[in-house]
Amino acid sequence: MSRPRKPATIVASAGTRGDPGRHSLTPPLWSSDTFRWDDADSKPAYDYSRTVNPNRDLLADALAELEGAAGGAITNSGQAAALLALLLLPAGARVVAPHDCYGGTYRLLQGLEAQGKLEAIFVDQGDDAAFAAALEREPALVWLETPSNPLLRIVDIADRAARAKAAGALTIADNTLPTPCRQRPLALGCDLVLHSTTKALNGHADLFGGALLAKDAELVEKLHWWANAAGLSGSAHDAWQTLRGLRTLPLRVDRQEATARALAAWLEGHAGVREVHYPGLDSHPDKALAERQQSGPGFMLSFRVNGGDDATAAFLKSLELITLASSLGGFATLICKPATMTHRGMPPEAQAEAGIHGDLLRLSVGLEEAEDLIADLGRGFSAVS
Ligand SMILES: *Cc1c(COP(=O)(O)O)cnc(C)c1O
Repeated sequence: MSRPRKPATIVASAGTRGDPGRHSLTPPLWSSDTFRWDDADSKPAYDYSRTVNPNRDLLADALAELEGAAGGAITNSGQAAALLALLLLPAGARVVAPHDCYGGTYRLLQGLEAQGKLEAIFVDQGDDAAFAAALEREPALVWLETPSNPLLRIVDIADRAARAKAAGALTIADNTLPTPCRQRPLALGCDLVLHSTTKALNGHADLFGGALLAKDAELVEKLHWWANAAGLSGSAHDAWQTLRGLRTLPLRVDRQEATARALAAWLEGHAGVREVHYPGLDSHPDKALAERQQSGPGFMLSFRVNGGDDATAAFLKSLELITLASSLGGFATLICKPATMTHRGMPPEAQAEAGIHGDLLRLSVGLEEAEDLIADLGRGFSAVS
């Protein structure tokens, strides 16, 4: 293809030529576990659905084009995609990960380390010296997650990926928060990109899924081999439904981001707020870097409530529109308290080190009207007084 296609075009046309038999515009659901062979010596393109399935392929093709990848595996959750990435490594390999990474990733790395399967090195990846020191320990994999969750810290992907490569490590970026509509880590030098498709890519909060995509075709082969061997593949139905959700991703991200900008500005001006973390605000320490490597600040933000834990509890209790729940990227605005919800698997010392305090709340901004969301947040702050 001569000119890279834009995300809206990719998702609007994904799979529309995918039914060679009946020419249906929307791809059918191939839920069959198995496929008929013409004869026992000619393996068909599709034989058994754990190994390969047309609905997963259509979704993988769309995601690969969005991310500029050679291809990838569709898994049954974001965490299955994380495990798949770790299965590429030899026993005892070192993995450098952010000290404030997604709670589930932290749990997985710690659990495997406790069994002696790998060595996890958690560092503040914004700290140049700490990152350099971690690379001296010859890691096999550098795990990036930017913007970070829940503090929306930004790490320079191009710089970190180049330094990891020079040290002989593969680089993976968890791109769940920004989505490929706002950030493309493979173009910035990463080898692998991970998604929890549970979140914005599906966007409708009604399934679990993941994807692991690679820039290099050889790595793609390994991903398929391990996804099949370990049984990590996602179901045909989930892939089919995720492709349906994906069609509106660019529209949803535009709208959710515009609302997030409005909410962040409003929160920053409110007396009940101690601080706001949002890469679109002038007060964000890495706003310039975010503008360089992202095409927008996204739909996630977090803030600290003045008055500590009790004030935070009163605030949450009085919300009527915004739902207290721990997911993100969907149509409905969700709020969560990372210290006791998404990051509860992280010990208190690690939480303190990562800046996850009891008065910190994370917002995943959805598709409601900004003024209704602001009215709800106002209700929360009135309850604190
Ligand atoms: C949710 C999430 C995951 C894990 O995905 P699941 O689909 O819940 O397994 C990984 N990384 C990030 C940033 C996430 O938000």
